[in-house]
Amino acid sequence: MSEEENQNQNSDEKETSKEINQEEKEEKKSRFTFKCTRCDACCKERGPIPITLWDLELWARNGVLANFLPYLEVYTRPNGTVDLILKPLLSEKEEKTEESPEEALKKTPLEDLLNEKCPLYNKEQEKCLVYENRPLSCRTYPLDYDGTHFSIVDVDCPGVGQEGMTKEELKEMRDTAKQMNYELTRIRIALPVLNQIISRNVMMDLMRQNMEAMSKMSDEDRQKLEEIFKGAQEEQ
Ligand code: SF4
Ligand code: SF4
Repeated sequence: MSEEENQNQNSDEKETSKEINQEEKEEKKSRFTFKCTRCDACCKERGPIPITLWDLELWARNGVLANFLPYLEVYTRPNGTVDLILKPLLSEKEEKTEESPEEALKKTPLEDLLNEKCPLYNKEQEKCLVYENRPLSCRTYPLDYDGTHFSIVDVDCPGVGQEGMTKEELKEMRDTAKQMNYELTRIRIALPVLNQIISRNVMMDLMRQNMEAMSKMSDEDRQKLEEIFKGAQEEQ
């Protein structure tokens, strides 16, 4: 067989294997059956995890809310939606090049952390550190409900297609996905409103503090300050 024929055969085989993979994925999507294999793949490369009021209430009830605070962040997604999220952790390789993981995270846009591990996954022990208190998003993964349709957000999840799911388990998973959709809608309404009110109050407090400080200044100091402001305006 000539080299050209060989190359053509290889490329045909690759195409066929791609089509088979695609068919397998389509089949997984059309007949949903699931059993989590606890492979932890969704914890190791999860990216930002949306947090809802349901999660905050659960953590408050269980007295663990303060433990989650260092990992929470407000994140504006590329489509403009504002979410409360669990911040992903930088990979170890990148961490070593920076002064500290916290500093590195501040400098890294969240868009670059979409495939990073969940901060609550312990790689050495290979386990979720908060399994009993894991967010609703982790309880419904990889099933998603958009208000009309169910979909699988990760067809490569090894649990998808596993046989043995009972009708009750399927119903429970669907109900959890619906609850996640409801809770996401609730927090996406509440978050921007609260954010605006809190920012406005912080600004008002700052202005009040500044005015109080100004009123206590000597004429000489006030004159100096005005000159500094004037200089800064002229530079702009
Ligand atoms: S949900 Fe899927 S990816 Fe996550 S641990 Fe279970 S089987 Fe693995
Ligand atoms: S909270 Fe737990 S279950 Fe959820 S992604 Fe993190 S480590 Fe995994």
